[in-house]
Amino acid sequence: MKNFIFFGKPGAGKGTQAQRVKQKYGLIHISTGDLFRKHIANKTSLGKSVQVYLDKGALVPDRVTIDMLENEFQSAENPKGYILDGFPRTVGQAKSLERFFNRLKLNLNAVVSIEVDRQLLIDRLLNRGKISGRTDDLDIVKINNRFQEYDLKTNPLIEFYQSRNLFYPIDGHGTIHEISQRLYELIDHIS
Ligand code: AMP
Repeated sequence: MKNFIFFGKPGAGKGTQAQRVKQKYGLIHISTGDLFRKHIANKTSLGKSVQVYLDKGALVPDRVTIDMLENEFQSAENPKGYILDGFPRTVGQAKSLERFFNRLKLNLNAVVSIEVDRQLLIDRLLNRGKISGRTDDLDIVKINNRFQEYDLKTNPLIEFYQSRNLFYPIDGHGTIHEISQRLYELIDHIS
């Protein structure tokens, strides 16, 4: 099995690239952001409790996020592997994931970090917001809040995974195709 974390700031292209890698390698793509948005659209009790965080561009509390992620794993059958997109985003989540993988006897192959300059990310998010209708993409205050959350809570994961020799940065500039090629090369190289 191949298991990857796709890591990067908001707008880095994690979701877009995860879709392509998923197709090529037959992996299961789990995006915690997509799962939260689905719960909100379906008006589930989880959706109602997390809406306030997504609306502000703040991280959802760890316990809620971890429980949702673990449930999602249990619903998959005979997977070839997983791409986690947007999870973990805090050291607490990363430690929980480590324990969860140990329990399931799963191995984490790599944390692939898609690296893009911040100003380009902001432009991309504002453009994406016009197309996707995601309210947290259209509003610069919310976008800035998401970057602040990233700097404070998610950035420490770089050191966490570097110390485990699992952190692999790739250049996230260029066309979607170019970035995918870099990812495929990396994935073929490390697994
Ligand atoms: P994304 O689609 O990954 O940009 O996530 C959208 C929003 O969902 C984030 O701004 C958070 O409010 C929430 N979210 C997604 N993943 C996580 C996570 N791992 N931990 C906490 N909140 C999350």
